[in-house]
Amino acid sequence: MAGVAAAAALAPAGSVILLEMERTLAFHTTGRSAALFVANYGGRASRPLAHASLGFLESPPEGAADAPLLSDRGALWLAGPEQMDHLQRLADEGETSGAGSRLVDSDEVLRLVPALRPERVAGGLYEPSARDIDVAALHQAHVRIARRHGAEIRLSSPVRSIARSGAGWRLSTPLEDIEAPVVVNASGAWGDEVAELAGIAPVGLQPMRRTAFMVPGDVAYSAWPMVVDVDHRFYFRPDGSQLLCSLAEEVPDTPGDPKPRMEDVALAIERINQATNLEVRTVNSQWTGLRTFAPDGEMVIGEEPTAPGFFWLVGQGGTGIMTSPAYGALLANQVLGTPLSPSLLDAGVDPETTTPSRFR
Ligand SMILES: Cc1cc2nc3c(=O)[nH]c(=O)nc-3n(C[C@H](O)[C@H](O)[C@H](O)COP(=O)(O)OP(=O)(O)OC[C@H]3O[C@@H](n4cnc5c(N)ncnc54)[C@H](O)[C@@H]3O)c2cc1C
Repeated sequence: MAGVAAAAALAPAGSVILLEMERTLAFHTTGRSAALFVANYGGRASRPLAHASLGFLESPPEGAADAPLLSDRGALWLAGPEQMDHLQRLADEGETSGAGSRLVDSDEVLRLVPALRPERVAGGLYEPSARDIDVAALHQAHVRIARRHGAEIRLSSPVRSIARSGAGWRLSTPLEDIEAPVVVNASGAWGDEVAELAGIAPVGLQPMRRTAFMVPGDVAYSAWPMVVDVDHRFYFRPDGSQLLCSLAEEVPDTPGDPKPRMEDVALAIERINQATNLEVRTVNSQWTGLRTFAPDGEMVIGEEPTAPGFFWLVGQGGTGIMTSPAYGALLANQVLGTPLSPSLLDAGVDPETTTPSRFR
């Protein structure tokens, strides 16, 4: 998502080549998300990027998408009697980030999701404006905009070396060498490894596993919001006639193609069955993705101070889908040296909070 968002934002200003090591785009984390827009989520510095993305998500540029990118969902954080303090803290964060969320009592929680067990519910925090994202359509929207402006996308093209060439760079893949004045490192979990190819010190990215899976549901559940345990011990949400579920785990891993662990799926099912009367027993499909974080949990967007012409676009963590239009725009502002676009300014985006310089 980061690569195509950057390509879409940069292509109108010049020539762009996107190099992807896999045979298809979105094979890694981007194809493995929970597909949600939730304003009260993610790092403090990154939150304005979600607000700044809404304009694009609600009304994509002409011809970029054939159907709406967002659909109504809502998000409901759930607290048992011993978790009410945590709920208040989350409500305060929601208030600060303008999420429009409100505390609701146990009756309203049970009205929103009747399958919850009353004895497990003390209260909730409801964010009605949370939305489902059509991730494939959003990804395709960035691809369409990039291609319309002449960007080239090269698949099966792992970048193996990055060397200085005059004032710019020479990148090598097994198929070709490419000269470019500017390199954007949008390689997700591999961000530090790709920087090291260019002789640049890592920023300390940490990929974290998160597993999701589908279980049989019912179209009768389709109006439920996403339900998230306030301590992130599990979440679930309707997805057509299925439920998308997760343990919401954050377990350090290394860059790669992680596979689900049976015990993580089993633990999530146990917790969901304790909280609800859904009696989940079977799993239709399962996957694991890497949510990659910088040491302070915020995105890393901007020029490497020790290597002019090398730009970072990594550390999207758990919000790299819903913030993609805005971080693409911010990256383009940085590369082109243009003033922040009005949508970023209005949302309160501050490039100082995401600059790689904070690690140098
Ligand atoms: C279970 C789960 C739920 C999530 N839910 C949400 C959600 O609801 N909302 C949300 O906004 N976000 C969510 N996320 C987070 C979101 O998916 C990520 O933030 C986002 O996909 C990161 O995109 P990316 O482009 O940085 O990474 P990736 O999609 O991993 O892309 C990086 C790309 O770089 C390529 N690459 C690496 N090294 C090289 C090289 N040397 N040469 C060429 N190519 C290379 C890789 O092949 C890969 O395709 C979730 C993630 C998970 C795992």
